[in-house]
Amino acid sequence: MNQFERLLSSLAGVPLLRGARCRGRHYLFDAQEGDEPDDVASERHLQALGLCQLCPALRDCERWVDSLPVRKRPLGVVAGRRYNKKSRDRWKEVR
Ligand code: SF4
Repeated sequence: MNQFERLLSSLAGVPLLRGARCRGRHYLFDAQEGDEPDDVASERHLQALGLCQLCPALRDCERWVDSLPVRKRPLGVVAGRRYNKKSRDRWKEVR
């Protein structure tokens, strides 16, 4: 199960994220794993962050992420933020 699938599986009870720009593009949002070079992961995450900025579901997505305990927030890009494995704190916010 990839990061996006884990995200979707944890969405029970969450409002439908209509028009989500990440749909079908999970590979941009997934956390850096394995031996993926830092610059490659950063580039795809920048693309994902840009999609979040244009996403009509951004507000609902933010509310959902903010409702989760920090340790349960998905790694990678979600709601215009990037979470890493070390802290799961907000790592980068584009707005
Ligand atoms: S804000 Fe980003 S992570 Fe959330 S639904 Fe939209 S594209 Fe997906």
